[in-house]
Amino acid sequence: MRLFEDTYRHKGMRKQLTDSIRAKGITDERVLQAILHIPRHFFMDSAFDKIAYEDRAFPIAEGQTISQPYTVAYQTQLLEVKPFEKVLEIGTGSAYQACVLAEMGAQVFTIERQRKLFDQNKTFTYLKKYPSLKFFYGDGFEGLPTYGPFDKIIVTAAAPFIPPKLVEQLKTGGKMVIPVGEGNVQRMLRLTKQQDGSISEEIFDNFSFVPMVEGKKS
Ligand code: SAH
Repeated sequence: MRLFEDTYRHKGMRKQLTDSIRAKGITDERVLQAILHIPRHFFMDSAFDKIAYEDRAFPIAEGQTISQPYTVAYQTQLLEVKPFEKVLEIGTGSAYQACVLAEMGAQVFTIERQRKLFDQNKTFTYLKKYPSLKFFYGDGFEGLPTYGPFDKIIVTAAAPFIPPKLVEQLKTGGKMVIPVGEGNVQRMLRLTKQQDGSISEEIFDNFSFVPMVEGKKS
């Protein structure tokens, strides 16, 4: 069961969470405002209500997780999202990250490979607040060729390698933020597509994501 009431207590906890993420080094005020604004407890089971604003990941259905808020903020800051940009997200999960991007004014296309998680978001009425947010059931390794190319791509599962089709679907000058690695720990990379089609790579901190898995799950 989920609770859709945003009380003063929730708002207070959200303010504290935002302050703690700022203290951990997130400087983009637009990212911090989005986190301050979005009721994260709506995205998880009411059993977690009291701890929903701790800076940690929580389980959602199908053995998956809603990412830690600091991780969401970190990836979003690296993505340098601007209003009206087309952003592709791989790994919808709870849809929290997708809402952060939509709250910042992006047109978001998000893909989930697990049918149950995809279906759950169809009846999640809070998401109606973001008409620019579009949901797809599919394999993120394939991207969304008919909707691309994208200004930005964000992968929110641990990629074993950089998916070539996602690189193809990036605009010239576009950026992709992706955690890459096969063990328990992944390196956050930011790739930028150059004029000549080549890719430049910047390396950031280590994180731990659930794996990006090939193919859809019914
Ligand atoms: N962005 C999410 C984080 C979810 S965890 C949030 O804010 O809650 C990562 C998600 O990626 C899981 O739901 C998992 O099922 C999904 N995933 C893993 N491999 C995928 C793939 N190949 N294509 C699409 N989604 C994938």
